[in-house]
Amino acid sequence: MNIEKVDVLVIGAGPSGTMAASMVNKNGLKVKIVEKTKFPRFVIGESLLTRCMDHFEEAGVLDAIKEQDYQVKNGAIFLKGDERCEFDFSDQYTDGWKWTWQVPRDEFDKVIADKVESMGVEINYETTVTDIQFNGSDSITTVVDKEGNESKIEARFIIDASGYGRVIPKLLNLNAPSTLPVRDTLFTQFKDVNRPEGNDSNRIVIVAHKPDIWLWIIPFSNGNTSFGFVGNPEYLLQYCGTPEEKLRALIAAEPLVRERFKNSEMIFDPIHISGYSISIKKLYDEGYVLTGNSTEFLDPVFSAGVTFATESGIAAGKLASRKLKGENVDWDNEYVSHILHGVETFRTYIEGWYDGTLHKIFFSEHVDKKVKEQICSVLAGYVWDMSNPFVARHKQSVRNLASLISK
Ligand code: FAD
Repeated sequence: MNIEKVDVLVIGAGPSGTMAASMVNKNGLKVKIVEKTKFPRFVIGESLLTRCMDHFEEAGVLDAIKEQDYQVKNGAIFLKGDERCEFDFSDQYTDGWKWTWQVPRDEFDKVIADKVESMGVEINYETTVTDIQFNGSDSITTVVDKEGNESKIEARFIIDASGYGRVIPKLLNLNAPSTLPVRDTLFTQFKDVNRPEGNDSNRIVIVAHKPDIWLWIIPFSNGNTSFGFVGNPEYLLQYCGTPEEKLRALIAAEPLVRERFKNSEMIFDPIHISGYSISIKKLYDEGYVLTGNSTEFLDPVFSAGVTFATESGIAAGKLASRKLKGENVDWDNEYVSHILHGVETFRTYIEGWYDGTLHKIFFSEHVDKKVKEQICSVLAGYVWDMSNPFVARHKQSVRNLASLISK
């Protein structure tokens, strides 16, 4: 059997894999992506944060995305009954991007993958990784194509960006339970014929339906809108019938969305995912690094998944290139601490959302303008700006603010 040789093998052509591969390619190393599906393929995660614009720019794919005319996103709206809280990314503490997009991920991921391919990264679609044997830093990966033919790829380093596939975590038994409780989600996309006039389409809308049940509305520029419920499994389970009947019943129970979506056509049968949060025992070893959703995934409430995918993809691509060029890489300090700092920051806000602390803050009229700007930067994904107290001392700052408001 012929064994193909590459410097870096990237598993998965989602945003994390393409960012990583682009950085390796820019470093003049031979990189190849193997991707299980044929693009375009559906994946959830359509509302971006502005931080990932920095990554698209660095990877050289920003202009290709700009040409697509996706729905501009310039903030987030949180609703609870008749209470409303708006964040506008132009009112931010951190000096960063003021806007990003809401995107159908099937098309979006293909635009990026095509661009990266045009820059010289080889992508093999419908090619599934089934096994990896490590020998120090080197490895032999077994892949199977759509005809069932097996072949081997020898790599000096692997970047596992396989998302929900979690290839290396599964092969090496690295998965760990999340510290967050199990939560379920039920979602689809609607033909949004009753979309309201005005500016609300420029932002994700999050509706707090019950204390631990919320829903998202993410309008696209093609007239469709992503829509889903998230929350404790018991609550969602009380609704019976087909996935469509369940989702329609949930919609009927929420006055803020009832009229808009009650008769709207669903683009696909609602998808139900149970227990999406997952953690990981380690993020790297001699021959590999994990990025994006192959690492830890917390919760979608603040739309941080793609931003973590691109942040870690860019970092992993650069560090892997340095390693293969013979430089010393301190993976613990340069990668693990960096990524985990971001994860822990978002964990505070996610836990605060579900325990009601953030509802108190978001829907209060007594939050200082500067404080709101600092929180806005977190929601924009700028969770590595240590001059922001709501980043550097996230737990304490959120707790103190909530108790101040309660007084
Ligand atoms: P993916 O985009 O999943 O790409 C991984 C690729 O690897 C896939 O194409 C897959 O086919 C391929 N692959 C898998 N196994 C193999 C294999 N064995 N061999 C070869 N290839 C393989 N994030 C946001 O930013 N915004 C949101 O609004 C948002 N909403 C969400 C809502 C819900 C309910 C959930 C659960 C998540 C949401 N996310 C959101 C998170 C988002 O889905 C992910 O964080 C993001 O897609 C991760 O990107 P990735 O590149 O790591 O992985």
